[in-house]
Amino acid sequence: MITEARKPILCLDFDGVCHSYESGWKGADNIPDAPVYGMRNALKRYEKDFRIVVFSSRSKQEGGIEAMREWFEIHAPDVDLEFWEEKPPALVTIDDRAITFDGKWPENKTLLDFKPWNKRGEHLWKKHACGEALATLHANNPGGVLNGTEALYDSVWKVLNYYHNDAAGQVEGRDPAKPVVDGEKS
Ligand SMILES: [Mg+2]
Repeated sequence: MITEARKPILCLDFDGVCHSYESGWKGADNIPDAPVYGMRNALKRYEKDFRIVVFSSRSKQEGGIEAMREWFEIHAPDVDLEFWEEKPPALVTIDDRAITFDGKWPENKTLLDFKPWNKRGEHLWKKHACGEALATLHANNPGGVLNGTEALYDSVWKVLNYYHNDAAGQVEGRDPAKPVVDGEKS
């Protein structure tokens, strides 16, 4: 672990990285969605070696920082975070809408075709397949033990999101025999 005073800054984007942003933009002070799965565990890990600075397009807008603070109070109350109005001088940034520059200027088409991780085909396909599977399940269950299909859909979607992160190596210590629905096992 690096001593507090010498920690480098990790700049952390908010929407699409911390906030799952499933509902899209609802205003700088309106943050309706759940965290991206595994967020709290990742932030707990990062805070050991970094000053984590949350910097988002919300940061300069009326009520934006306050709303993000409140949201983190609910979803990661034990993580030490800073909220800056200016982009911090960071060692590295985590952002869902960026390309890592490697000295080669990307083509316009590459930039125009850019999609963040949660808008890529595979991700949508999983969500769609999940919805299809549940619709079939529901149709075959006219007796109605499957009340609350919405909630069930939500649960399955969370599991898919969890495994998506897991496949990307973002979930640690998963016991394959025990799927963790909330991804927040510590
Ligand atoms: Mg973002």
